[in-house]
Amino acid sequence: MTRYHTYDAVIVGAGGAGLSAALAAGKNVKTAVVSKLYPTRSHTGTAQGGMCAALANVEDDSWEWHAFDTVKGSDFLADQDAVDIMCKEAVTAVLELERMGLPFNRTPEGRIDQRRFGGHTRDHGEAPVKRACYAADRTGHMILQTLYQQCNKEGVEFFNEFFVLDLLMVEGTCAGIIAYELATGELHVFRSRSVLFATGGYGKMFKITSNAHTLTGDGPGVVYRKGLPLEDMEFFQFHPTGLYRLGILLSEAARGEGGILRNKDGERFMENYAPTIKDLAPRDMVSRAMFSEIKAGRGAGEDNDYLLLDLTEVDPEVVEKKLPDITEFARTYLDVEPLEEGVPVVPTAHYAMGGIPTTVDAEVLRDHRAETVPGFYAAGECACVSVHGANRLGTNSLLDIVVFGRRGGLAMTEYASTHPLPDVPEDAHEHAEKWLASLMEGDNPEPVADIRETLQQEMMDKASVVRNEDSLTQARDSIGKLAERYAGTRVRDRSKVFNTELTEHIEFGYLLDMAEALVVSALARTESRGGHYRDDHEMREDEHWLKHTFITKGDGGDPSLAYKDVTLGRYTPVERKY
Ligand SMILES: Cc1cc2nc3c(=O)[nH]c(=O)nc-3n(C[C@H](O)[C@H](O)[C@H](O)COP(=O)(O)OP(=O)(O)OC[C@H]3O[C@@H](n4cnc5c(N)ncnc54)[C@H](O)[C@@H]3O)c2cc1C
Repeated sequence: MTRYHTYDAVIVGAGGAGLSAALAAGKNVKTAVVSKLYPTRSHTGTAQGGMCAALANVEDDSWEWHAFDTVKGSDFLADQDAVDIMCKEAVTAVLELERMGLPFNRTPEGRIDQRRFGGHTRDHGEAPVKRACYAADRTGHMILQTLYQQCNKEGVEFFNEFFVLDLLMVEGTCAGIIAYELATGELHVFRSRSVLFATGGYGKMFKITSNAHTLTGDGPGVVYRKGLPLEDMEFFQFHPTGLYRLGILLSEAARGEGGILRNKDGERFMENYAPTIKDLAPRDMVSRAMFSEIKAGRGAGEDNDYLLLDLTEVDPEVVEKKLPDITEFARTYLDVEPLEEGVPVVPTAHYAMGGIPTTVDAEVLRDHRAETVPGFYAAGECACVSVHGANRLGTNSLLDIVVFGRRGGLAMTEYASTHPLPDVPEDAHEHAEKWLASLMEGDNPEPVADIRETLQQEMMDKASVVRNEDSLTQARDSIGKLAERYAGTRVRDRSKVFNTELTEHIEFGYLLDMAEALVVSALARTESRGGHYRDDHEMREDEHWLKHTFITKGDGGDPSLAYKDVTLGRYTPVERKY
């Protein structure tokens, strides 16, 4: 049986972006959040290090310095109007969370404490600055709990463990969504005046990743299949300090508090790559430096294939009090005592800079000419506004999700108050129903898990920290073959109650789409910029490439590319030195 619901605002995803949007919309219009996970299990809850804002509580700071760092960190690909908005609104965003009850760490005077993070500097690159507000190494957990409580207080309705399958469009206008209830296998049609996607990232396409299993790009996948564009998909961030072999994240806060990266000879190698801010250089640079050290045979361990994060010179009390979770990870997963020895680390796939293109009010763009899709919004890691350009600075994502989630929620309120409820055809759910039925018909030739493992290894080997034409062409060809194999697979479990084989099957399809969009966009960009580093085109080339990539899946299924100019502002691109 299919059930029908009617709302003014429907938000897909209950991470920080979704809940910020829901809170802003829920105060004014009838709002629902639809999430495949129970809200507080969203990946935002694992964010450790902090959320930045130029509060200047501990050291001199200004939002302009923050904006400069963000633009420089982005390798000048960020849109500077969006960056200005984010850095200015950061201060109120943090103070509002504080007033809602978020337990930030405090200075002895009782103000919100702040710490250092990569790429955040004072006075345009002079020296690292303390800008990240934090709650030990559980900042995201606290943000998520705080926003969830407030949403409940405002009467936002939650549909938890509902898997969104499709977006409803009527004559080019967004009209709602279709969701599958995990506990019953029932379909639900949500008619709505406005819809916001906040479905998070898609790091699970890589073998070594800090991302949760559920980060499979469902939102951007639905958008891509609708023939709408995705922006800057070639830019995927590798975080320097994932636990060796596992990818589990050790927050950059470890280096912010004084941790140092060393090679097998004990050398502080970042001094050679970023002489001014060393270990606190942006992530793209540190990950590349680690890659170079390993390639030059200076990696530690029997296979010389990892580096060491040295916390032994940090005050043990600081380690225990401000970094309790990550030190415990090192003990539990690698049997290493961080107070006494270096922790083996490697770069780990961490953050998608690209995603669903939006305006600064989270309105989704229909094309590279900046036309929008009425009633449709996106925010958070699944979106590209673009404040992170080619490389995101640490602590700017928790900020992005709160600021642009809220702006999206406000824009939805305004739109929903002035537009009628779109008519939805009675058979709106039939397409989804037939799709699910087809996935459960016939025999399954091979497990999807095997195809997924191959994709993750291919992406790791051929499209990660270092790429070139050969590796990307091979990756593109492999993805094509994997997609053919995937198309022949079927779901063996035919039950209606918590059918995780079915949801994993669908999720993997989106991962394949994300991988295709990444590799095709990366092949075309014959330069190196931020997280996209090509050893066959090592230089950044502003003359040709100071522009955003828009990738669209055509009617025949083949992707096509278009480009949109970067919005510049106070800062003209210069060589990036740290
Ligand atoms: C380990 C780790 C540590 C991090 N630390 C920091 C940090 O210290 N500072 C910082 O700024 N950033 C950090 N980041 C990045 C930051 O946490 C994320 O980019 C951000 O939290 C993403 O928020 P979001 O709301 O966009 O998505 P998420 O929090 O990932 O939420 C996605 C939501 O979408 C829902 N969803 C997805 N698909 C569907 C579907 N098909 N149907 C229904 N619902 C769906 C999920 O249920 C979930 O509720 C970290 C990331 C990781 C992985």
